[in-house]
Amino acid sequence: MVLYKGPQLLDFAKTPPHLQFNKYVLTGYRPVSTAQECLRSLFYMHNELGNIYTHGIPFLVFLVLLPFSIPWMEVDSVWICVVHYLACLSPTMGSVVYHLFMNHMGGEHVYDTLLSLDMFGVCLVNTLGALPIIHVTLLCYPTIQQATLLVYIFLSAYGIYRATTAYNSIMRLRAFVWQALFRFSLFLFRAYGSGGGSPNSLRLFVIMDSLAVLGGVVNVIQIPERLIPGLFDNWGNSHQIMHVMVICSIIYLHWATVEDLAWIKAYQCPM
Ligand SMILES: [Zn+2]
Repeated sequence: MVLYKGPQLLDFAKTPPHLQFNKYVLTGYRPVSTAQECLRSLFYMHNELGNIYTHGIPFLVFLVLLPFSIPWMEVDSVWICVVHYLACLSPTMGSVVYHLFMNHMGGEHVYDTLLSLDMFGVCLVNTLGALPIIHVTLLCYPTIQQATLLVYIFLSAYGIYRATTAYNSIMRLRAFVWQALFRFSLFLFRAYGSGGGSPNSLRLFVIMDSLAVLGGVVNVIQIPERLIPGLFDNWGNSHQIMHVMVICSIIYLHWATVEDLAWIKAYQCPM
């Protein structure tokens, strides 16, 4: 994509140390820029362009199209729909801002703030995305349901703190593990206990979490660029693969939640 002739791009060795987080991406680094210059980088090729668009385009698509497939008027608790919509939007929003402005002239301080914003978006989809799951799974146990929602929100706040203050990708991945384990225990309660939910949604939720975990692992092990450094500088590197998996994971979250909302409408808790 070359709509605008950009500045001279830098090699890995010439880019500021805080932007040297993937030694297998050798070229295509934008120079330190003003906010306006960062915005202009939407229109010329560099090694963050793929990251910006793999989350920027889905963000716009979700923003416009998701409201049409959410059954706002058919559920008693509209908050579930609002929370689900925000969950689907949050990871892509923080990510676009982070990737677009990471080379801002404010330096490492601005970079760290933007990275925390990116992590905050990922935490939000984990936290908000799980609230409808808890609501549906414990639908027939209102007291336990409310207590679980409160405990989950409280523990999520701690997870957000851990993820936004982590200083490497392994620590960030670890900050999300307990939330995944919490969801997994809800899935077990659905599969083998007396938890509520559509029979079709459980499979979709498991695919959702598998895609997210797989994306996180690919990002940490930096494959394929580790195998052939320099070949995937602009397109096809591990971070972009993770972005695509995150989008697929959000789509599965949406399908599964819509299934559950339809199930609630037709279900009557036993006396
Ligand atoms: Zn990213």
